[in-house]
Amino acid sequence: TSQTKTTTTTTLKETLEKYYGYSNFRPGQEEVIKAAMEGRDTCVFWSTGSGKSLAYQLPALHEGGKMSIVVSPLISLMQDQVTALNNTVGNIADGSGGNNDIACFLGSGQTDTTVEERVFRGDYKIVFVTPEKISFVSDDGGFGSSSSSSVFMQRLQSLKAMNKIGLIAIDEAHCISQWGHDFRVSYKKLAVLRDQLPGIPIMALTATAVKHVREDISKTLKLSNPYIATNSVDRPNLRIQCHRKVDFSSDLNYIVSQITAAASIQEKQQHQQKRALPASLAKPKYDSSIIYCATIKEVVQLTGALQHRIGVENVAMYHGSMTPQDRHDAHMRFLSSECKVVVATTAFGMGIDKADVRTVIHMGAPKTMEEYYQQIGRAGRDGIASNVSMLFSDNDFSKFSGDFYTKGLTKESLQTQLNSTEKLKQYAIEREKCRRAMILEHFEETPLFGSQCGTCDNCIRCKTIKADDLQRNLLNEVMPVLLTLKHSAKGSLSTTDLVDAVLGKNSKKGSVLNHQWQRFQIDEAKKRADKNSTNQHFYKEVLGSLVRANYVTEKNVKGAYGSWNVYSLSPKARMEFFVDDSLSPATTKEMILP
Ligand code: ADP
Ligand code: ZN
Repeated sequence: TSQTKTTTTTTLKETLEKYYGYSNFRPGQEEVIKAAMEGRDTCVFWSTGSGKSLAYQLPALHEGGKMSIVVSPLISLMQDQVTALNNTVGNIADGSGGNNDIACFLGSGQTDTTVEERVFRGDYKIVFVTPEKISFVSDDGGFGSSSSSSVFMQRLQSLKAMNKIGLIAIDEAHCISQWGHDFRVSYKKLAVLRDQLPGIPIMALTATAVKHVREDISKTLKLSNPYIATNSVDRPNLRIQCHRKVDFSSDLNYIVSQITAAASIQEKQQHQQKRALPASLAKPKYDSSIIYCATIKEVVQLTGALQHRIGVENVAMYHGSMTPQDRHDAHMRFLSSECKVVVATTAFGMGIDKADVRTVIHMGAPKTMEEYYQQIGRAGRDGIASNVSMLFSDNDFSKFSGDFYTKGLTKESLQTQLNSTEKLKQYAIEREKCRRAMILEHFEETPLFGSQCGTCDNCIRCKTIKADDLQRNLLNEVMPVLLTLKHSAKGSLSTTDLVDAVLGKNSKKGSVLNHQWQRFQIDEAKKRADKNSTNQHFYKEVLGSLVRANYVTEKNVKGAYGSWNVYSLSPKARMEFFVDDSLSPATTKEMILP
């Protein structure tokens, strides 16, 4: 007894299609929109690029939808959104009296009151406001007491009385929380919304994955039994690496290799069918890259050094002491890809809506796990494989215990910050556990890929293929030898040079390894120093096993003073150990210079 229910009202999906041209909701979108439209408080905890904006826009646009008030921390971002909405959705909406504007922006500094007048006439569907606009009280009424409210708030209250407001959305809601990395006092004050506009559903949106920040948001905004939408924080397309700093010039070389790599690889792949490598590949190409430094001084220094290496036109800098105009210019040049590389402090953050950032490098550790994850998350938003890499030293972490950034925090949140710094340090120095798994565990998520993502530096190093054949410990015994051969400057090494390099000793004849690899080798040797496998005899034995197992090719060469053996990686070893680390820094060079 099935009956077809016919209805004349527009479905949400039809509204989606009409205004955005998308034929389907992404997982979770429709549920959140429905909950909000039913008057329920909602939390949208989705990673960047998931489509959070739709969650507060669609309820206003849908048939009979009431106005959405959207609070957002960045004026430039709101202005961009307003323009985009009016140019797309606005043109589709039936403009009343020739007016197609459906969105507008209101800030507390605005002198022109026309827009505000029109807001209260009900001319707009989506109204973006700064947090200050909500909480600004011009007389000395004192903030937060429900008896005093700003003029703007009073006008909102009268709109509410006319049943004109459907939703209040708080974008970047983590700014509310002291525990977050971007705390803003003006956001904390948004707590008044619930008291002064009771009954209007609130939607809190953020990409933060930190549990206590999420709880803080819900508590501060006084949400009642909110519908909570979450998605995984995992970013499978990020190839994660962490390395110790060596010295400024080696680190600079490393950075150049990283920002050069991805573009060339992509281009190379594109040309692979044609079988011919274009001449342009011989020249270095730079991919959109963000390099984070801890201080302005470091930004200036690194910018200078990089400009010297790859050209002034290719490197921009961005930090808090630049004029707003200069920062805007740098941002624009980066967004338009006119300038590929930006060296920045954490001031370069929110609102970077560039999908094709291929590389994010931390020159020096960031402060916390949360900050780190937020920043590496700016890479690869288009879903294409992207490299994220941290260069750290132990000092990087200890300096964050100072109070230069923790001023004004409560004791409790200071401790949380310090714990997170410590966690990041453990993460950075870890050489075996999968990095992506560690990140997910930090955010209390179980990795769907098991214990190894297969693409981070640790997973690549720890691959266990064929180790059993050799009856050797792959990580500590086999890989050091294979990696040393792989990164030998000439492609082959004598026994002495090989063993010395594996043990982290410098050859008398100068470096026998590619400079990029020296850092790994020294790191590795240090790590093995306390194991009993550090003697020359031992590695000669390992080399012997590798030759017998056909992983290493032995060749006798003759010179003026007699003959000796040199060793190189066999094709079998390349196939089995090095096939899928194509984007690691080490192989990059080989791919560019076949
Ligand atoms: P967030 O705010 O979560 O970072 P956005 O709201 O900016 O993400 O959305 C990211 C991109 O995804 C935008 O280009 C948006 O138009 C697109 N998008 C959102 N929802 C859908 C959908 N249902 N189908 C296709 N694309 C969508
Ligand atoms: Zn991994």
